[in-house]
Amino acid sequence: MKQLILDMENYAVEHNVPIIEKDSIAFIMKFIKTNNIKNILEIGSAIGYSSILMASVAPDVTVTTIERDETRYMECLKNVKKCHFEQKINVVFQDALEVNLSNVTYDMLFIDAAKAQNTKFFEKFKYFLKPGGIIITDNLKFHGYTGKSEEIESKNLRSLVSKIEEYITFLKENKEFDTKFYDVGDGLSVSVKKDDKK
Ligand code: SAM
Repeated sequence: MKQLILDMENYAVEHNVPIIEKDSIAFIMKFIKTNNIKNILEIGSAIGYSSILMASVAPDVTVTTIERDETRYMECLKNVKKCHFEQKINVVFQDALEVNLSNVTYDMLFIDAAKAQNTKFFEKFKYFLKPGGIIITDNLKFHGYTGKSEEIESKNLRSLVSKIEEYITFLKENKEFDTKFYDVGDGLSVSVKKDDKK
């Protein structure tokens, strides 16, 4: 397992695949353990690095992960097979915004896909969370650009960063979830779904 993780880290560098920072995945793994999280939905598998590490926290942790890029999806499947996690990780090859989920609920949702789409993913998948369920979002600092969108010259980058800034405001103002922000890795948020009955 240790070797597979190292191989995946090297593959990510060599093939320019963005994967989660070590501090951030360590934070999430600890969070899964402490909060007794059992089933997770991940948006953005890439090559399966974060899914495999999250699934490795305990024998009864399961992950459904969605990836729209075929090469990464195939690589993810290969890696899941290598660590014999076929029963723990379900890899779905589709655009997350087109996936149809029915009759499933998750303890935790991990949003780590196209950063400009964070609000759309949040709004679509919040219905599949159990009461008290968690949504974790990665890369809210976006390599230090967040909060400085007006100074960015490139139009595309400025638009992406301002979408992340809007998402942060959306989280802060959201009445259905309580969100805390963590200065870990590239910036993480943890949003807890409030219990409607309270
Ligand atoms: N979670 C992975 C890890 O840490 O090992 C890294 C994921 S990478 C940052 C983001 C991935 O999300 C990319 O592989 C990209 O192809 C995928 N992605 C982006 N938008 C998506 C969408 N709408 N549906 C499914 N996958 C998407």
